[in-house]
Amino acid sequence: MLPFKLVFHERYDLNLGEHVFPSRKYQWLRDRLVRTRFASAEDFVAPEPATDDDVRLVHDDEWVAKLRSGTLTYQDILRLEIPYSRQMVEAFWLAAGGSILAARLALEHGVGFNIGGGFHHAFPGHGEGFCAINDIGIAVRRLQRDGAIRRAMVVDCDVHHGNGTAGVFASDDSVFTLSIHQANNYPSEKPPSSLDIHLPDAIGDAEYLHRLGNGYRAALAMFKPELLVYVAGADPFQEDQLGGLSLTFDGLKERDRLVIWTALSHGLPVAIVLAGGYAQSVEDTITIHANTAEVAKEVLLKVGAGTKSGRLFRRG
Ligand SMILES: [Zn+2]
Repeated sequence: MLPFKLVFHERYDLNLGEHVFPSRKYQWLRDRLVRTRFASAEDFVAPEPATDDDVRLVHDDEWVAKLRSGTLTYQDILRLEIPYSRQMVEAFWLAAGGSILAARLALEHGVGFNIGGGFHHAFPGHGEGFCAINDIGIAVRRLQRDGAIRRAMVVDCDVHHGNGTAGVFASDDSVFTLSIHQANNYPSEKPPSSLDIHLPDAIGDAEYLHRLGNGYRAALAMFKPELLVYVAGADPFQEDQLGGLSLTFDGLKERDRLVIWTALSHGLPVAIVLAGGYAQSVEDTITIHANTAEVAKEVLLKVGAGTKSGRLFRRG
């Protein structure tokens, strides 16, 4: 049995049909993890959907009402870049519930892994770039409201800037947002995160890891979070159709190790969400996400073995 839970719901699929965003990847990743015997049925836990009150911890009433009632304007849908359906809305609410659950499980076990979420382009008042609501913001705010945490850090390694998350937490000193992304890529406007690492095109493993390591360690040294949300986008991969960086499979695994090890070895729990991934072959995207789960297991076992009880994170 895994030392942490995988949060998954069979209705995570956004029902997009033929679309560059392969939202069936959630089911395919679950299937891959079972097929390779990395996980078995008891390692998975299904979330409840977030409540509308949870969603309103981040989003304006008007935007929530539009999504709930299906009254998006043509402009809203253009900006969202995905077709509207009831199933799509339900999937976003489930993904947000999944990220809340993954964050709670992280406090308990050190790692919580949502096989979904990472919708970092959603702003309080609108959605964009395949993201209707910001599950990252909702999870952090819900745990804060419950009194489970006060301070959180978001480390966003998707190839695209975490503009929505930056917008959500712009005037919130309790949350540190770090985004490392390709500068010459979507979104064209990049509202400032607490720390932005703007990368040139085609950067490879070594340079990426160097820059991420420097920025991340400096951020942790000055801001002491109680929870890390790791946005583990698969799209910095060299064969991504919507990305222009040149990371390899091994480089992405090293990235995962850097983020997760640095946190766990300091006793900082990590909630992991998937975000983007648009490799030419969807199998490559699945491999990158599966590798993140493998690295999380490897690091958690190593950290657990290094503590007397092996129960560093269990609280309450
Ligand atoms: Zn992306």
